[in-house]
Amino acid sequence: MFAVPELKILLSHEQIAKRVAEMGAEISRDFAGQPIILLGVLKGAAIFLSDLARQVQLDLNFDFIGVSSYGTSLGPDAQLKKNAGWDSTGEVHLTKDVDQSLAGKNVILVEDILDTGLTLNYLRRRLLAHGPKTLRIAALLDKPSRRKHALEADYLGFSIPDEFVVGYGLDYAERYRNLPDICVLPSTPC
Ligand code: 5GP
Repeated sequence: MFAVPELKILLSHEQIAKRVAEMGAEISRDFAGQPIILLGVLKGAAIFLSDLARQVQLDLNFDFIGVSSYGTSLGPDAQLKKNAGWDSTGEVHLTKDVDQSLAGKNVILVEDILDTGLTLNYLRRRLLAHGPKTLRIAALLDKPSRRKHALEADYLGFSIPDEFVVGYGLDYAERYRNLPDICVLPSTPC
């Protein structure tokens, strides 16, 4: 493992692995005997999904959906502004749709972080139109203090304070996704 001295570890890879295994066991119990689809939100949830999928003891397949929201498409400053609550446009756009029919399926939407709830609220409404048998949400992280849209994860890894985090799939301007731990980005990023 390499060290990035500017970053403070909030959740270590050991803590994450333990919690992801618990979430996988919970999903395996809830859907015992039934097939499920894990639907990851690109790109942030890719690493979480790949670890979670290997902790689920069920007939499973996975797919990805892509979204961009005002802020992330405007570069790093806008992303930090979004996190600070300065983005209030409430616009989410689909950049990649699912590759399969979800009708009659057990679908678990897998997201890196539930923040204002805008993204998952949009995706939930859109996916319900497919007519899945069940639609649940698995989020690794939650910042409940920032919620603007009433929405809770059915499977949640960790509640965290209102800080900008990177690592384990989460980026700042596309950097840091490969960090094994989840770290707090200092206010003046390197
Ligand atoms: P929401 O739509 O719930 O406001 O935001 C969800 C998305 O915002 C996440 O999927 C993620 O892309 C981004 N986001 C929110 N908080 C953070 C954070 O602390 N770090 C990073 N890297 N992205 C975040």
